[in-house]
Amino acid sequence: SPWQASVLTLFPEMFPGPLGQSLAGRALREGRWGLDAIDIRGFATDRHRSVDDTPCGGGAGMVLRPDVVDAACAAALAAGPDRPLVVLTPRGVPLDQRMVRGFAEGPGVVLLCGRFEGIDQRVIEARGMLEVSIGDYVLSGGEPAALVLLDACVRLLPGVMGAAASGEEESFSAGLLEYPHYTRPTQWNGLAVPPVLLSGNHAEVARWRREQAEMLTRTRRPDLWARHGSATPHALDGQV
Ligand code: SAM
Repeated sequence: SPWQASVLTLFPEMFPGPLGQSLAGRALREGRWGLDAIDIRGFATDRHRSVDDTPCGGGAGMVLRPDVVDAACAAALAAGPDRPLVVLTPRGVPLDQRMVRGFAEGPGVVLLCGRFEGIDQRVIEARGMLEVSIGDYVLSGGEPAALVLLDACVRLLPGVMGAAASGEEESFSAGLLEYPHYTRPTQWNGLAVPPVLLSGNHAEVARWRREQAEMLTRTRRPDLWARHGSATPHALDGQV
């Protein structure tokens, strides 16, 4: 069965949103992956259909109730129990390409989107959720973060990307930022394409790209450079 994403949200109409377009949208229509957006409010039990309450200990905002979120999780997992249950939260593990690859290689994901101040911690722990952040900034809700995570996963699924190789060669797969790209016209506004790229010498092109990738990574992302850059074998050389 195809890779299946379930999203637990108070705003199911936000899905598939941008994922209904372009490569992801075509793959969705072709059945290469599946998406169901589940309305958390459908699991409210009181007559006001309330999903949240005020924070214990005081403070501003509202917190999603554990009983309602738990029932929504149970419903999502019933349709695919082997999938990781991920909650999008700014205090989670930072999303990176390695994590994306892991999700894409599995049967799918269940994504829980927070709103307001967040979600009662007890249901996060009781369900053993994986807490994931898409960066060090605060969104108003988890939905854009879920769309980001899904976009990154779906493009890696078999048959989704036009040229299969383009997933392997780009930023982060070799632990380096990607080299810059150029196309025709070779002269534009008085600016030339770097001559080596027009030389037809594949070895020289590969070396130039490698040098550019290393230079960019060293200067822009010293953190990435320290972790991967210096230790990575010349992964790009064999591919270009
Ligand atoms: N009070 C929370 C805090 O300071 O950590 C912020 C809650 S935020 C206004 C509402 C929801 O947006 C969160 O529950 C989470 O689902 C989502 N969210 C916000 N920033 C995020 C990020 N960087 N990565 C993933 N999800 C995020």
